[in-house]
Amino acid sequence: MSSDCHVTSQTLELARWRLNGYLCGSFKQPGSIMTKLKSICVYCGASDAVSPGYIALAEELGRELARQDIRLVYGGGGVGLMGACARAAHESAGEVLGIMPRFLLQKERIFEDVEHRIVEDMHTRKQMMFDESDAFIVLPGGIGTLEEAVEILSWARLGLHAKPMAFLDEDGFWEPFFDLMEKIIEGGFTPESFRSLLVHSDSPQTAISALTDRMIVLDA
Ligand code: AMP
Repeated sequence: MSSDCHVTSQTLELARWRLNGYLCGSFKQPGSIMTKLKSICVYCGASDAVSPGYIALAEELGRELARQDIRLVYGGGGVGLMGACARAAHESAGEVLGIMPRFLLQKERIFEDVEHRIVEDMHTRKQMMFDESDAFIVLPGGIGTLEEAVEILSWARLGLHAKPMAFLDEDGFWEPFFDLMEKIIEGGFTPESFRSLLVHSDSPQTAISALTDRMIVLDA
């Protein structure tokens, strides 16, 4: 599991990236310095057929977001890790926004007890989840989770944003993904600086604090 021992240089690198983004017009107009994460988007599995440890981690994350007064933005479902995280945040009096495409309303059993928006397609859902969030946490999940996370990373690679992302697991679930990223960077396909956008954490607290470290950003 990677550590945050290079946070200072990574943070500087990220700040430079953000400044470039602002100067190129890619990011928001500056106003005050953002000192706190207001909203975190969580990507995670929608399957109920997973081991209880994954559900427990999702619940722990939901409670921690509520405790730190950070809004949870997520896919809107009541199933799998999605439902577990949202229910836990809601039951702990946290703010939650679910964004669900109409065609998945039944399949992913929309969680109606929290604020939710129903959109027409997956693309609108993903864009809205991105727009409503300052950073991302990726819990264990399947193809959908992977696709969502990789798309956001690809937008960062294109310089469209510099919102940080943390992969969270307790059992090394995401290690093969980080191994692949190392190969990609070693192969020269992606610059070394890209590492500063990626965090691998084993607890909700360390994930949120690593994301906060990377939030030196000029907020609108
Ligand atoms: P999974 O990780 O496969 O359990 O899926 C997790 C979530 O990702 C579910 O809410 C899916 O609806 C969503 N998802 C699956 N494929 C996509 C996609 N192409 N774009 C956006 N979300 C997706």
